[in-house]
Amino acid sequence: MRLKTFSPSDVAGKKVLVRVDFNVPLAGGKVSDDTRIKAHLPTLTALREAGAKIALVSHLGRPKGTVNLKYTLEPVGEELAKLTGWTVRFVPDCIGEKVDEAVAEWKDGEVLLLENVRFHPEEEKNDTDFAKKLVKDFDVFVMDAFSAAHRAHASTRAAAELIPSFCGKLIEREITMLSAARDNPKKPFVLILGGAKVSDKIAVVENMLKKADTILIGGGMAFTFLKAQGLEIGKSLCETEKLDFAGKMLEEAKTLGVKIVLPADAVVAPEFKADAPSNVVPADAIPQDQMGLDIGPQTAEIFTKEILSAKTVLWNGPMGVFEMPAFAKGTEAVAKALADATAKGALTVVGGGDSAAAIALFKMEDKVSHVSTGGGASLEFFEGKSLPGIEPYVIG
Ligand code: AMP
Repeated sequence: MRLKTFSPSDVAGKKVLVRVDFNVPLAGGKVSDDTRIKAHLPTLTALREAGAKIALVSHLGRPKGTVNLKYTLEPVGEELAKLTGWTVRFVPDCIGEKVDEAVAEWKDGEVLLLENVRFHPEEEKNDTDFAKKLVKDFDVFVMDAFSAAHRAHASTRAAAELIPSFCGKLIEREITMLSAARDNPKKPFVLILGGAKVSDKIAVVENMLKKADTILIGGGMAFTFLKAQGLEIGKSLCETEKLDFAGKMLEEAKTLGVKIVLPADAVVAPEFKADAPSNVVPADAIPQDQMGLDIGPQTAEIFTKEILSAKTVLWNGPMGVFEMPAFAKGTEAVAKALADATAKGALTVVGGGDSAAAIALFKMEDKVSHVSTGGGASLEFFEGKSLPGIEPYVIG
């Protein structure tokens, strides 16, 4: 997929409005994780080096269209200034007089950070009149918020139609890496699926089944597949209404020659609790009063072998309840296997959301080819959907 990106001559001397995703976690009025801010620095630096003046617009949390200072972006501006040494001026609105004034007084090198765009109800309605107000003081629009690109909002979509627009370097990198896994994976291609529910991943399975050589299934969703094969799964998660789908998928995979690997063993506990007493049991011997909360060591070994034999690996969804140390070993083993596969030359891509949180927890995010910054956006991308925030920039 080729994208319309900016070159220095497109932005030199221009007033550029950049849609970033600064939806960062805050604790005690301070940014507690700056990963999302750092993800935009290549774009922001390139624009500044090209001689553009940059203003940033973002959402934070879900203020639902009203001003709620719990969701102000002011502390994020302080963090950006601390991280970069740039002068960051916070503007307490994203449209109207306050923006006009800041733009009129805008000094070279100064970065404007506009207030939370979701303080206005028109944002989530993709309202064109509101988008016109957003871009009114600017010459160029740059979309860099990959994690918000699956939403057609005024600042992610409508704004792009109004002034010359380009996508930024974060989106360019995301689409390059995610497309390499989705559209032309080097074989063998191993897809790893986990997480709580089958229902969240159905569209991904449907879109990717024909492309994968091997699909490894762990996490809560594995138990619906085990049950579809006639096994007893005790109190483990099961989506009864998805048993049919799971059974059909196993059949279809067989017809297509795609290898599906389900857990051979599981870590079980009597309840969903961090300190519940846990045991490893074979997948065909899960006691009635126990629930599976992680893949077992034998499964971790089998999955590792498969991952190490791959040229492309795509991972979406944890193998167990990785937030609880007793049930994190399976997810950690898969993260480690991805790191080792990367070192051997494989392309390894981790979808956003929980798998990204897990790989960061095990400090292996720098040892894989790419960790997506978008949970919902990367999921929709692997479902084969077109992302409304990217569409305006696709040129082939
Ligand atoms: P998802 O958002 O669908 O990727 O699901 C991620 C969540 O699934 C994480 O919060 C995990 O704790 C949870 N999870 C993974 N494995 C299991 C399991 N065996 N039983 C219950 N929850 C699980």
